[in-house]
Amino acid sequence: MSTAYVLENGVSSFESPTLEIKLRISATEMTVPINMRYFDAHTHVNFVAYNSDREATILRAKDAGVGMNVVGTQFDTSKAAVALAEKYDNVYATIGLHPIHTSKSYHDAQELGEGGKEFTSRGEVFDMAAYEELGKSPRVIAVGECGLDYYRCDQSTKALQSKVFIEQIELANKLEKPLMLHIRNAYDDALEILKAHAQVKGDTHFFAGNWDTAKKYLDFGFTLSFTGVITFTHDYDEVVKNAPLDMLLSETDAPYVTPAPHRGKRNEPAYVELVVRQIAAIRDEDFEKVREQLLTNARRVFHF
Ligand SMILES: [Zn+2]
Repeated sequence: MSTAYVLENGVSSFESPTLEIKLRISATEMTVPINMRYFDAHTHVNFVAYNSDREATILRAKDAGVGMNVVGTQFDTSKAAVALAEKYDNVYATIGLHPIHTSKSYHDAQELGEGGKEFTSRGEVFDMAAYEELGKSPRVIAVGECGLDYYRCDQSTKALQSKVFIEQIELANKLEKPLMLHIRNAYDDALEILKAHAQVKGDTHFFAGNWDTAKKYLDFGFTLSFTGVITFTHDYDEVVKNAPLDMLLSETDAPYVTPAPHRGKRNEPAYVELVVRQIAAIRDEDFEKVREQLLTNARRVFHF
């Protein structure tokens, strides 16, 4: 995959056949250190959905006391995540290849732009050496999002998904970084692979299983993170309530799943406070205690 990095007049851009990410970088506000109160454990301000206001979005989060983990989904978005993390003190990066991008079966305009449609999806071959090089940045806090997706990918992709998942577990082992897991309709298969290969722990992003499944991941030492979804459905209340508070993380998965009362608008990391408030409400616990513990959890899992 050809990717160019150019720096002109303080504007850097990543260009590829399907993806163009422009980063407007100014010195303003970047010298004031963040007073972190929340951590958005999984967000995508590296996506084209933020091309027109990426820096404003990151600085709005900073003003709200929000640190964030910008997660890559293929090589271009991973590289963009690292560039952002190296520019903004409230941004960290996760690098990896999403299971849906291991085969040509899916396209999302918010992620890759309309131009990506001609490619349908990526079908990227995981280049271990290239990702390992990216992983040398001290701002990289995890490997992913990686895992298994049996919901959006058809059955024929299972073997390839497993292979690429194992390769990324090996990368995480080598870099001694935690894993950022994306798992849909595949919790048992993914856990089996983790038990066989993982020497590191990590986070189960956008947890969408029941309490029995949650318990298996918690017992294996993986945290569960929840999005704005919990502000508009009660499907996960049992898991949010039963999980030990020190094993939960907050995330937005922006630009997706905008929490109430902003539904219908594009999501952004500053909204992670609404997720934290909902976790406290579901558990009927003091908001300040929950806020502080979730931040502590993120620091423990991602070592920042
Ligand atoms: Zn994601």
